[in-house]
Amino acid sequence: MDDPLRLREWFTSLVGPRGVVKDKLQILDLTTDRRKRYVGQPLLVLKPATTSEVAEIVKLAAQTRTAVVPQGGNTGLCGGATPDASGAQIVVNLTRMNQIRAIDSVNNTMTVEAGCVLADVQHAAAEADRLFPLSLAAEGSCTIGGNVSTNAGGVRVLRYGMMRDVVLGIEVVLPSGEIWHGLRGLRKDNTGYDLKHLFVGAEGTLGVITAVTLKLFPRPTTSATMLIALDTPGDALQLLSLAQSYLSGRLTAFELISATCLTLVRKYFPSIQAPFPISYPQYALIEISDTCGADEMGKTLEVLLSEAHGLDIARDVAVGTSRKHIQQLWQVREYISEAETADGKNVKHDISLPISRIADFIEVTDSEIAHTYPGTRMICFGHLGDGSLHYNVAPPQGADRDAFMAANLVRINRIVHDSVTRFGGSISAEHGLGQAKREEILRYKTSTEMNLMRAVKNALDPLGIMNPGKVL
Ligand SMILES: Cc1cc2nc3c(=O)[nH]c(=O)nc-3n(C[C@H](O)[C@H](O)[C@H](O)COP(=O)(O)OP(=O)(O)OC[C@H]3O[C@@H](n4cnc5c(N)ncnc54)[C@H](O)[C@@H]3O)c2cc1C
Repeated sequence: MDDPLRLREWFTSLVGPRGVVKDKLQILDLTTDRRKRYVGQPLLVLKPATTSEVAEIVKLAAQTRTAVVPQGGNTGLCGGATPDASGAQIVVNLTRMNQIRAIDSVNNTMTVEAGCVLADVQHAAAEADRLFPLSLAAEGSCTIGGNVSTNAGGVRVLRYGMMRDVVLGIEVVLPSGEIWHGLRGLRKDNTGYDLKHLFVGAEGTLGVITAVTLKLFPRPTTSATMLIALDTPGDALQLLSLAQSYLSGRLTAFELISATCLTLVRKYFPSIQAPFPISYPQYALIEISDTCGADEMGKTLEVLLSEAHGLDIARDVAVGTSRKHIQQLWQVREYISEAETADGKNVKHDISLPISRIADFIEVTDSEIAHTYPGTRMICFGHLGDGSLHYNVAPPQGADRDAFMAANLVRINRIVHDSVTRFGGSISAEHGLGQAKREEILRYKTSTEMNLMRAVKNALDPLGIMNPGKVL
């Protein structure tokens, strides 16, 4: 390995002083993952400003066999953007590359640099009277490059799909330092392997994404939000099916929230009012949106609610009546993660299942966990409409959280992930593998799948310099 001092000098000369992070606190922040499970020790943290600077960095990295850790907003939840503790890896943070390069409202596309913050991309689309639909609680700080690299989901997947479904073109610096200019804005392009999809969800292991061309959609002009109280997850599935029959493409979000989640949110955010006079076991948060008029939307809503009452599954309904009320209904969902953090550590699972099997999965797995770990609390919520759940297990009240986690995390993961697999699901719905699930995935993917993934990695990154130790 080259002398670290010399390497620092060489890399610094490629980006200039503004492109190197020197502040120790900032470095610590950028080399610690969001959940504070991993703390890295980098050779350097670089912030290039252009695609050619990224290309020069990667070329030098290839020559000197220096590992590159691509990074966006560092909001990822699997340690994918955190360097190791060797002091030999460079973090390439893309947040200075934050230009909206073009918006074509006839082609319904926009081309943006990888370091653009998701919320800024949404606003830029709105200013052009279009919708960029990806929406998640970290949208104020996560970046488009990170969204593409983790194939992010969020609350509108039900209608618009995951990030993979809205990426049309990509510009990426390959592990050799060569730039692939693939920023096409085409819906149809059957000219062989669709290479852009290799980089979507690759978690920075195949190259550094520097820009993307995204799909845009008409901006809804009316919307309605409601919270429906239910008895069971099975009733939520019945309601989802009904809503899909009546609303088709108008159904934008369908979130499941258990009573435990609502209690937790109200405990740590007392300003959020109870949506109903009494508590119910489950709730479905539903959003409908369209370009139709408010009257038509109102009629659609009435039909849905009367059908739900007819089926005797809706115990109570709160329809958002004002902007503030709608915001409060959404806060019940959006604040769950923060309430969990305030409450203390728990064992987290980001899983997906065939939608039709979710109720059975919850029943069987809840009972297995309760039997093995009496007193634990299930914090179960998620994007029911697209089959993904946050299925978290909190230690019993009064237990020493750290001791409980240290003694039981692996076993609880095993119970939940084995159950997910029995029900035909996936152990990572949205967050990826990063370093957190790198070993765990070996139990659940076939050797054929793992070998194909390794073959792709070796073909694109034979020197193994691109985000080593993540995913594979
Ligand atoms: C409060 C909160 C809520 C969240 N909700 C959701 C949710 O609903 N749905 C969801 O899917 N995720 C969610 N996440 C996870 C996270 O926000 C997403 O994974 C997001 O897409 C990460 O973007 P980022 O820019 O922060 O990426 P980072 O954390 O910086 O990086 C994530 C991964 O992508 C790679 N990467 C980043 N930029 C590039 C690039 N330009 N080129 C190549 N590789 C790159 C990194 O190496 C790393 O492996 C949530 C996170 C938080 C904190």
